[in-house]
Formats: sequence, structure tokens, C-alpha cells
Amino acid sequence: MKEEKVKKQIAILGSTGSIGTQALQVIAAHADLFEARVLTANNRWELLAEQARRFIPAAVVIANEAHYESLRDALSDLPVAVYAGADALCQVVEGTEVDMVLTAMVGFAGLPPTIAAIRAGKPIALANKETMVVAGELINGLCRKYQVPILPVDSEHSAIFQSIMGEQSAIEKIILTASGGPFRTYSLEQLETVTPAMALKHPNWEMGAKITIDSASMMNKGFEVIEAKWLFGVEPERIQVVVHPQSVVHSAVQFADGAVKAQLGVPDMRVPIQLAFSFPQRLHSDFDRLDWYAMHDLTFERPDTDRFRCLALAYEALRRGGNIPCIVNAANEIVNRAFLEGRCRFLEMAEVIANTMQHATFIAEPTYEDYLATDAEARRIADNCINH
Ligand code: NAD
Ligand code: MG
Repeated sequence: MKEEKVKKQIAILGSTGSIGTQALQVIAAHADLFEARVLTANNRWELLAEQARRFIPAAVVIANEAHYESLRDALSDLPVAVYAGADALCQVVEGTEVDMVLTAMVGFAGLPPTIAAIRAGKPIALANKETMVVAGELINGLCRKYQVPILPVDSEHSAIFQSIMGEQSAIEKIILTASGGPFRTYSLEQLETVTPAMALKHPNWEMGAKITIDSASMMNKGFEVIEAKWLFGVEPERIQVVVHPQSVVHSAVQFADGAVKAQLGVPDMRVPIQLAFSFPQRLHSDFDRLDWYAMHDLTFERPDTDRFRCLALAYEALRRGGNIPCIVNAANEIVNRAFLEGRCRFLEMAEVIANTMQHATFIAEPTYEDYLATDAEARRIADNCINH
């Protein structure tokens, strides 16, 4: 009798985004191993319908309920259950049989479905770093309780994960590399007048708009320091951010004997996505390979927190702890959107975040409900700061 191979069933939260669409490429390239079982999006129902037609998942969710009927009608001839609304995200993640949940949605909105997935015992492939920034301690506690692993998808954290694969010894230091973004060489004076269009041109990575702006301000790197602390249990003093404009060294780990292990490669998010899906195996890929004779200068620099104040604010948030990282995340979501829409200047973003950190209510040991309240309060404060 022919034995049927069991495919890994994957739920992709945010399948229409940059990470989500690349995850579907990985699934398509290894259709014998992986199956897309749940697909979700916020607004882009037409692309979601197209994806559903191609991958025939058990269920799709459109978070914005206004698009429910259009999506349902577009899929009426297919055996695909169609749901709408933010709560449906959590319910589908809990109620559908899946082997892994890829959290590829943006922002605080990723927190509830990630928690739902962990409570349902589903392993997480984590792209949504905001979840760890906001509630890393809570998430770690839940992962321990429900014995759920988190596989990092963020390229730096995947690199760190790969550098400690097979190691028994503790990490002495994490070297977290940063491209520096499009404004790496700009003076403070030049930063006064940069536009969203300029910020959206990232030198090495093509990503969603929010993370691209976060990369330009280096808040993204600040968030990655927080993400690294919670994923790898390393204190911020031992996480060194190093600007490496070529984005070839994706990050590194130093051990007690001084040895440093790094993971290198061409910048391609499908590598960490595929590894999160296939771990502990590595699968073949036809992605580009590094050309060692073409790499003449790999350079490394100290980040400048005078020009990129958001990075310093993220370290400060970690040091102060409690709900401060949640406050920073919420304020950042507000200023990020405002900058994109031309309502906030580039350097003003850090000012508004710092102000919000000062005025939002501090909670030393926040619960899940506290995080929801903090997020709402910090958004209100940040909004007011912009519109003063
Ligand atoms: P994106 O904007 O391209 O896609 C976001 C996806 O999430 C879309 O499918 C969208 O429909 C969905 N979504 C957005 N808001 C939602 C909401 N409120 N409710 C439900 N669904 C919602 O974003 P991206 O660049 O793919 O990033 C996704 C996440 O991965 C982010 O947390 C980002 O920080 C992280 N990440 C991305 C990259 C990258 O290369 N793009 C790298 C590392 C980490
Ligand atoms: Mg990253």
C-alpha cells in the first residue's frame, strides 16, 4: 500500500502582506510537505480570494467585516469557510486543525490571535514582533504553560536561532545587525525634511509600509532588541546593535570562549520563513546564493542614537519594563501612520513617543487586560501630542 505523506498544515495570519505572500511561495515550492490551511487578511479581500482559489484552505478570515460579502460571494463555489472580524481570527486559529501558525499581521492586532494560538497549543512561527515587544513576558509564560515553541521568522532572530542551533552553552552576547535604513548617513538637519516617499525606499529589503518606516527611524531595531531579549533570554546590556549596511551578516552570537557564530546569506525573507516551517530540517531552495567574490566590503558601525533616538527609547523601555514597551509600541503605531500620511515630521516621531512614555499610566506587572487598556491610552495620548 502506498503510504500517504502527512503534510504540515499551516495557518497564515496576514497572508496578503509581504511576509504572508512569501510564505505562500514557500508552501507552493514544497507542496508535498506543506499546506495552507487558514489564510487571513485585513482589507485586501480580492487577493485573499485569489489565494484561496489557488491553495483551497479550510477557512479564510477577512478582519474588516465590510468586505465579508464580497469575499463570501467570490468563494461561493469553493469548499472554503469564510469568516469576518477580529474575533474570528482567534476562533479560527483555535478551532481549525493546524500544525503551525505564522503570525504575519502588523502591529498590536497580532497579540490576541497569537495568544489564542498558544492557548490552543499551536506552535508559532513569529513574524509579528510587536507581540513580543508589547507582551514578551506574558507570551513566554503562556508558551511554557502550554508547551508551545516559537520559531523566529524575523531575519535577525532566525540568524541568532541558527547560530545557537546545537549549542549547549549560554550566550555571552548577541550581535544584532541593522542595515541602518535609507537615512543612515543623513545629518540631523537633513532628517528634518525627509519625506515618506524617501523613507519607503529601503536599501536592502522589500517589506510592508509600517516596518519600512520603522526601519528608517530604527525603531524596528529597537523592537528587535526587545524581541531578542524575550526570545533568547538575554539582557539588553548583552545585545549589541551593529550597523551593517550590506545586510549579509543577518546577526551573530558570541559565546564564553569568545567564539562568534553568525548566519550569512542574501537578504531574502523566504529563508527564515522556510526554516521556521521545516525546522529541525533544512529544505532545498532555489533562492539566490551568496557570491563570495562579489562581496568586497562588509562594513560594521556603531549606531547613532542622537540621530536615531527611537533606538534609545526602545532600550529605555526595556530598562523600565512593565507596560512601557507596550506604550512605546502603541505610540509608535500612531506616529508611524501619521508620518506616512504627512501629519507628523520624521524627527517628531521620537518626540511624540517620548512624551507618551512620560504621560501614560505605568503598570509594573501588567495583565493581558492591562495591555489592552495601555494600548488604548497610549494611542490617545500620542494622537493628542501630534494634533496639539
Ligand atoms: P504587510 O503590511 O505587508 O502585511 C500585513 C498583513 O497583515 C496583511 O495581510 C494585512 O491584511 C494583515 N493585517 C494588517 N493589519 C491587520 C489587522 N488589524 N487585522 C488583521 N490583519 C491585518 O506587513 P509585513 O511587512 O508582511 O509585516 C508583517 C509582520 O512581520 C510585521 O509585524 C513585521 O514587523 C514583521 N516582519 C516583516 C518583515 C518583512 O520583510 N516584511 C521582516 C521581519 C518581520
Ligand atoms: Mg528584522
